[in-house]
Amino acid sequence: MSARILVVDDVPANVKLLEARLSAEYFDVMTASNGTEALAICARAECDIILLDVMMPDIDGFEVCRRLKTDPATHHIPVVMVTALDSPADRNRGLEAGADDFLTKPVSDVVLIARVRSLTRLKMMTDELRMRAITSLEIGMQAPERSAVADTGKGGRILLVDDRQSSYERLAGLLAAEHTVDVEPNPTEALFHAAEGNYDLLIVSLDLNNFDGLRLCSQARSLERTRHVPILAIADPENSTRLLRGLEIGVNDYLLRPIDKTELLARARTQIRRRRYTDHLRDNVQNSIEMAITDALTGLHNRRYMESHLATLAEQASTRGKPLALMILDIDYFKSINDNYGHDAGDDVLREFAVRVRKSIRGIDLACRYGGEEFVIVMPETDLHVAGMVAERLRRSIAGEPFAVHKGTKRIEVTISIGLTTLEQKGEQVADVLKRADTALYRAKHDGRNRVVSQAA
Ligand code: GH3
Ligand code: MG
Ligand code: MG
Repeated sequence: MSARILVVDDVPANVKLLEARLSAEYFDVMTASNGTEALAICARAECDIILLDVMMPDIDGFEVCRRLKTDPATHHIPVVMVTALDSPADRNRGLEAGADDFLTKPVSDVVLIARVRSLTRLKMMTDELRMRAITSLEIGMQAPERSAVADTGKGGRILLVDDRQSSYERLAGLLAAEHTVDVEPNPTEALFHAAEGNYDLLIVSLDLNNFDGLRLCSQARSLERTRHVPILAIADPENSTRLLRGLEIGVNDYLLRPIDKTELLARARTQIRRRRYTDHLRDNVQNSIEMAITDALTGLHNRRYMESHLATLAEQASTRGKPLALMILDIDYFKSINDNYGHDAGDDVLREFAVRVRKSIRGIDLACRYGGEEFVIVMPETDLHVAGMVAERLRRSIAGEPFAVHKGTKRIEVTISIGLTTLEQKGEQVADVLKRADTALYRAKHDGRNRVVSQAA
């Protein structure tokens, strides 16, 4: 995992220093000496993480950061501000601009590498999700970047794990200004609580009595329900070495006591915003997987899915020595429904048809839209005789009740023809089974439609 780090500083000596340290850890390093150059490199998506100097002559670091974070094309690139100033006011200006983290000059080696590694992991995960979500963009879903740029990061659900009453009362009070906060003073309950609560952020004290806060963080990382919830660790300054360990095991950010109010709120918002963005990406990926296997009009599986799944079902049937039935259904004179009542009425018929099909089959049966008004149903562990009864019941459920179209103002008679067969020989090609069903369907049409024709293997 060789991330490309962009180091931006107007002082060449500073650039050289960071470049040398990062290269020694096998990161690819790019450099820029001013804000304009840095923005151009980011716009070309050439870097994974930016180490950004604050004081620069043309556009200062805060402004560069603000521009990156408000542009949907670059807002996901982690920005670390590198600053000689370390007042809470400076940090807060950077956080307001959307910075992901801070390093104070002179930069400590250990902290530098720990931070860059942790942000690299995050960036790689986000990139992977972004890449997969691009497919969903192509099929017209909303770009998550647009809502991410507009997200204030407020209104989150936070679980605060801290056993010192004076501390958690203060922190909960501060956070309550922008979020809903639950406090869990008992660390042994915390993981359970976190898994149950659908939180946007966990804040974990590492100074717990008789309990290792890092253990909790690491457990939260491995548990399915909490794996993606960001963790903000809080520690006393003398515990700061443990924070580095924390970053290695997946803690996203940290704060040292005494905790500054504005910084706490800004860091919480950053984590919550990021959490919502990656959740949104993940949903898009999930949706695009569903879309890839589902027919949009009827909600049944599509042909592609059926063809790949049918092979699996056929193989299973063969190895277990069970029958497998397959039927092709085709709506009779569907073209004339379109011609007489319009294409929308035709669509209504297809949708209602799918509803009736679903009612007539079992959960393990596979129904799919094979083409325009052609459907395939695959029935595991079903012989020709039983399948014939199902087909006949289906035929009657279509012909027996007129279809409502034009928002229920019109009812039309619809019939279907069905060709039915089974897979009988071991290792028979599914294409041959489909072909046999199609031949049976052709006969059903030829013999006058509105009927079932079975064709034994
Ligand atoms: P047959 O009884 O021989 O099956 O006649 P048919 O008219 O049903 O068959 P044909 O294959 O000639 O026509 C199918 C029609 O289905 C043609 C096509 O325009 C229409 N069609 C295909 N997909 C859709 C769709 O998604 N919506 C609508 N409304 N019509 C569709
Ligand atoms: Mg037809
Ligand atoms: Mg047809």
